[in-house]
Amino acid sequence: MGLFGKKPLKIGLIGLGKIAVDQHIPSIRANKSLELVAGCSPRARPEGVKAYDDMDAMLAAHPEIEAIAICTPPQIRHEIAKAVIATGRHVFLEKPPAATLGEAEAIKTLAAAKGVSLLASWHSRFAPAVEATRKWVSERPIKSITIHWKENVRQWHPGQAWIFEPGGMGVFDPGINSLSILTRILKDAVMVKGANLHIPVNCDAPIQVEMDMQTEAGFPIRAEYDFLQTGVQTWSIYVESAAGEKLTLSMGGTELEIDGKTLIKEKEAEYSGLYAHFYNLIQKKESDADFSPLRIVADAMLLGKRIAAPEYIE
Ligand code: NAP
Repeated sequence: MGLFGKKPLKIGLIGLGKIAVDQHIPSIRANKSLELVAGCSPRARPEGVKAYDDMDAMLAAHPEIEAIAICTPPQIRHEIAKAVIATGRHVFLEKPPAATLGEAEAIKTLAAAKGVSLLASWHSRFAPAVEATRKWVSERPIKSITIHWKENVRQWHPGQAWIFEPGGMGVFDPGINSLSILTRILKDAVMVKGANLHIPVNCDAPIQVEMDMQTEAGFPIRAEYDFLQTGVQTWSIYVESAAGEKLTLSMGGTELEIDGKTLIKEKEAEYSGLYAHFYNLIQKKESDADFSPLRIVADAMLLGKRIAAPEYIE
C-alpha cells in the first residue's frame, strides 16, 4: 500500500535508455506511492524490468498501467504521447517536452481534452538550491545573469546520435536545463536578442552556443553552452544584483554560494521530487506543462547566426 492506504500508482516506461536506467527506474522504485509495472523499448532490456518491444505489447500485457513516462529522444515524443493520451493514461514527458513548440502545444491540448494529467518535466527545477535562488532573485533588483553550461558530450551522451539530428537540439539538450532554472527564478519573460550557433559540418544541431537574452526589465543575460568541455565540467548560473551582491548556483543547482559563502551544498534528488510532483498532479487532476524553456531554444534557432564548426566524431 502507498501513502494513506492508497494503492500505488501503476507506471509504465517508454524508452529504456540512459535516463530511464539512471533516474526513472530507481526513483519510481524508491517511492512507495508508485509501482513500476513494465517498460518498452526497441532493444534496451534493463535488468529487473519487464520489457516489451513497444507500447502496444506492453499495454496488452499490462492493461493495469495507469500512467506512462516517455523517456525516448524528443523527436518521437509527440507521436508517442498522442498514442498514450488516446488510451486515457496520464503522461510524464521527459525534457524537452517535444521537438517543436507546435508539438508540445498539441500534446497539452490532447491531454486537456482527454482529461488526463500531463507533466512536462524539467528535472533541474527540482535541484535543491533553485527555490532559494528564486527567493533571493525576487527580493532585489538584478544587474545581470551569466550562464555557463559546459560538459563533455562524449562523456555524458555516448552513442546518442539523435542529439545532433534535427530536433535533437545539440548542446541545448543539456543547456535547456539551465533555461528551465532561469525561467523558474525570474518572474519576467526572457527574450533572445542574439545567438551564435556553432554547428559541426556533419551535424544538424549546435555543439557550442553563445546567446544573449534580456528580460522585460532590461537586464542582460548571457549564456555560454559548450559540448566540447574537457576537464572541469560546469553547470553554473551567476547572478549579480544591482547592489553588487553575487550569487552562484553551481553543479546543476545543488550548490548555492552568496558573496563567497556556501549556503547550500546538497546531493541531487531531482527525480524523486519530480515523481512526487507527478503523483500529486494526478491526485489533484491537474497538469504542469510550461514550455518557456523550449520557447527560448526555438527563438535562438530563429534568430541565431549559424557558424560552421569542425566535423564531430564521437
Ligand atoms: P538514450 O540513452 O538514447 O535513450 C533513449 C531510449 O529511447 C533508447 O533506449 C531507445 O531505445 C528508446 N527509443 C527510441 N525509439 C523508441 C520508440 N519508438 N519507442 C520506445 N523507445 C524508443 O537517451 P537518454 O539520455 O535516455 O535521453 C532520453 C531523453 O531524456 C532525452 O530527451 C534527454 O534530453 C532526456 N534526459 C537525459 C538525461 C541524461 O543524463 N542522459 C538527463 C535528463 C533528461 P533502444 O535503446 O531500445 O533502441
